[in-house]
Amino acid sequence: MKTLTLLGSTGSIGVSTLDVVGRYPEQYKIHALVAGSNVDRLAGQIHKFRPHVVVTATEEVRERLISRLAETALPRQVWPELRWGAQARVEAATDSEVDFVMSAIVGVAGLDATYQAIVRGKRVGLANKEVLVASGKLVMEAARKSGTELIPVDSEHNGAHQCLRAGKRSEVTRLILTASGGPFRETSAENLASVTPAEALNHPTWKMGQRITIDSATLMNKGFEVIEACWLFGFSADEVDVVIHPQSTVHAMVEYSDGSVIAQISATDMRMPIQYALTYPARDAAPVPRLDWTETRSWTFSAPDLAKFPALRLAYQAQRAGGSATCTLNAADEIAVEAFLQRRISFPAIAAVVEETLERVPAREAQSVAEVLEIDESSRAVARQIVEERAQTAGGERGRISVRAC
Ligand code: NAD
Ligand code: MG
Repeated sequence: MKTLTLLGSTGSIGVSTLDVVGRYPEQYKIHALVAGSNVDRLAGQIHKFRPHVVVTATEEVRERLISRLAETALPRQVWPELRWGAQARVEAATDSEVDFVMSAIVGVAGLDATYQAIVRGKRVGLANKEVLVASGKLVMEAARKSGTELIPVDSEHNGAHQCLRAGKRSEVTRLILTASGGPFRETSAENLASVTPAEALNHPTWKMGQRITIDSATLMNKGFEVIEACWLFGFSADEVDVVIHPQSTVHAMVEYSDGSVIAQISATDMRMPIQYALTYPARDAAPVPRLDWTETRSWTFSAPDLAKFPALRLAYQAQRAGGSATCTLNAADEIAVEAFLQRRISFPAIAAVVEETLERVPAREAQSVAEVLEIDESSRAVARQIVEERAQTAGGERGRISVRAC
């Protein structure tokens, strides 16, 4: 029986993880559920999984959860311990009872708890990208020291993890990550300037949280994945290629020194990589659709257009630059994505804001997670300032245009 803490239980990955866990009640029990603010969903999860501890993002959300639970039939004596905030997240992830931590909070809010779990040698299923993008060096050093292995849940890295089992690491020459190309693969560069958040949120193959969906449309998500792959598997940025594969069925490929390429192929269902992380090195039957090989299909592969999607180029540049550049890349992107979702900046401006933030914030080597979080905060402040400047200019432009139109 494995005891789990689930960081980000109410999100897309969190819900899929509980779907897998709920099928094998004799194999898993939940120590803690950690989430942001969705109290309705949390209350439902508490009923079904009876965790010992539940942690919300803020005290106000904890109060709302208490009111919500009071409306249900669950007797108070079986309620979990209800906590909130950053320290409670760390304690939920590092409790001596816990064998496995699923890291699926979105953003740097998930960093400290994941890092501390790694320091204590917990097995970690890693979905959260920001952990490695913002703090890859410190996190991987901690994993080496504690001797724990991070099992990637992101489908491409999970695929790569599987492909790498086919040979020795020293025999590998190249990693190839696939990208769907997002909803704007066929959109002209000119038309990208007027795409809306609703269009950008309409991902062709995956159903995911908002931030990662927009990042998939700009290809920043693929850039983050290149960075994650470098840290997870010890590649340089030049050894990781990205290829557009709109069918999202081949997730990753590893090229060995003799030119042979091993690919990992499966349906677009995150429950497969989630379950792999939970059961590794064993495999179990997963509740995912199988590919029907009697059906005719075509899979296509092409090079990404870096001129149309500069975010991917910026991610490579940041990884090559090293130090805190990737932390700044992530922080600036989060601010720019939020501004785009609020319709304050255009879609192409997301990458422009990130590029300008990278130019303004000097890279340095963080010595601790606290320092990473400081760099994250100061990068956000710079990105916010750039968004403000751009929004004002664009507002002025819009004003002038509407006056002319009148
Ligand atoms: P989501 O937005 O659906 O869920 C995010 C979760 O984080 C929610 O449970 C939310 O309550 C929680 N959260 C947010 N802020 C919090 C805070 N301050 N404190 C505590 N909890 C907080 O996101 P998702 O799609 O599930 O993605 C989660 C992570 O996994 C992201 O880093 C994403 O890039 C990565 N990922 C997701 C997928 C996918 O298919 N969804 C695939 C690969 C990687
Ligand atoms: Mg992915």
